[in-house]
Amino acid sequence: AKDRGRNGVRFFNQQMQADVSSRADIVNGLRLALAQQQFVLHFQPQLQRDAGVVGAEVLIRWQHPTEGMIAPAHFIPVAESSGQIQAIGRWVLQQSCHQLAEWARWPETANWYLAVNISARQLHSSGFVAEVSKVLQDSGARPQCLVLEITESQLLQDIDSVIAKMQQLTALGVRFSLDDFGTGYSSLSYLKRLPLRQLKIDRSFVRDILTDPNDKAIIKTILALGQSLELAVIAEGVETDDQYQKLLQLGCQQFQGYYFGKPESLDVFMKNCK
Ligand code: C2E
Ligand code: CA
Ligand code: CA
Ligand code: CA
Repeated sequence: AKDRGRNGVRFFNQQMQADVSSRADIVNGLRLALAQQQFVLHFQPQLQRDAGVVGAEVLIRWQHPTEGMIAPAHFIPVAESSGQIQAIGRWVLQQSCHQLAEWARWPETANWYLAVNISARQLHSSGFVAEVSKVLQDSGARPQCLVLEITESQLLQDIDSVIAKMQQLTALGVRFSLDDFGTGYSSLSYLKRLPLRQLKIDRSFVRDILTDPNDKAIIKTILALGQSLELAVIAEGVETDDQYQKLLQLGCQQFQGYYFGKPESLDVFMKNCK
């Protein structure tokens, strides 16, 4: 693939054929994408020790008419800077809550939750609490089954207003998970102030858990932190049985990763769960 300068963004489809598209192409493409229903959601299972699948993380893909399936890393950052993430994020929330309402009708799936990634722009927008609560109401989804994943970097600015929003949503029953935990710059002091339900160990630590004593030590520390703050801890990026066994041995209770299931379309996800 050739580079079109510093605004060039690489597109890879699932076959890893490479192409390059400018930021302007992406912004224009995204404009059509919502209207023409080119986004799809994939679901990756999250498991609880001794309980199997308890929910899924929702991961967006862009089914581009000519470029093929585009991973979120190639368009979410552009959508964030262009502001299009607001509309895309609302669509993700709507679809996710719609799915939760559907699952609520069946005993086998009634308690499953969906973890939805929330971008900084969404979290910091003034209408965010009203938006989530409207989507919950319109869909009929149980708020307890909606987990919002936020990252440490989103907490760097406007922390008081973010905490206020989190508290309002928590009062509705919505839960929060702190994604990519351990990779940010944040101080630990605010962790106590945040109404969090879960810490999500970044997959960079899980990757080398067997070979890098530092990564193992960091994971141990996060698990201990979770225990003392009474937060659940989930490990993401679990790819092998050896990693899983090591995490179990360290006391981890919740897991996500290719070892248990890749992100898949709803149909495939449901089939794999049977
Ligand atoms: P993330 O929230 O950290 O999501 C986890 C990423 O790790 C996903 O990449 C997932 O496919 C990948 N993954 C899961 N298990 C494994 C594993 O065992 N090994 C490895 N190597 N990777 C694994 P994906 O789907 O490409 O998403 C990338 C990022 O895009 C996400 O990172 C998230 O930050 C963002 N994203 C995805 N969907 C949305 C969305 O609907 N809204 C927003 N705002 N961001 C999204
Ligand atoms: Ca996530
Ligand atoms: Ca993550
Ligand atoms: Ca390392």
